[in-house]
Amino acid sequence: MPIALYPGSFDPIHNGHIDIAERAARLFEELVVAVYHSPSSKRLLFSTEERVSLAQAGLAHLPNVRVIPYTGLTVACAREVGARAIVRGLRATSDYEYESQLALTNKQLAPEIDVVCLITSLQYAYLSSTILKEVAMLGGDISQWVPEAVRQALHARFGSSQPA
Ligand code: ADP
Repeated sequence: MPIALYPGSFDPIHNGHIDIAERAARLFEELVVAVYHSPSSKRLLFSTEERVSLAQAGLAHLPNVRVIPYTGLTVACAREVGARAIVRGLRATSDYEYESQLALTNKQLAPEIDVVCLITSLQYAYLSSTILKEVAMLGGDISQWVPEAVRQALHARFGSSQPA
């Protein structure tokens, strides 16, 4: 069973991401969760260090999963860790369009690496980091969608608008 890379922004990690990681960890010998460090382009709430540490907290129950930061090409990172597959999660058809474009590009860049897309579990089909941050910012209770460490981090970030 080969190694797989699960790349993403994870800004922050939520239960939909964790569900994909749990399922991928059963399919592969080792799963490397790679948190993308964007030098400039993407607007992110948490720093790379914070996103890595929140992902580590949320995935600590999975012994064959480790979390690393990365920058540059995803396929370069996959090669570096010896991954034969890149894992991605799919929610809606809109995800499919983007992911297929990404997968075909990556296949051209690294033909030896395959992309494995796992369909979201029904209860997380609507969940995204963007919506989560918006609910948290507006003072909604997000505890059903995130690990406790993430709830606390969002609470700290948005201050008194979050329940303690
Ligand atoms: P990116 O910025 O690369 O899209 P994300 O952190 O948003 O990174 O997501 C990482 C991966 O997790 C992507 O493949 C995304 O489709 C998947 N994902 C995000 N939310 C969910 C969810 N609720 N269920 C399943 N997969 C998800």
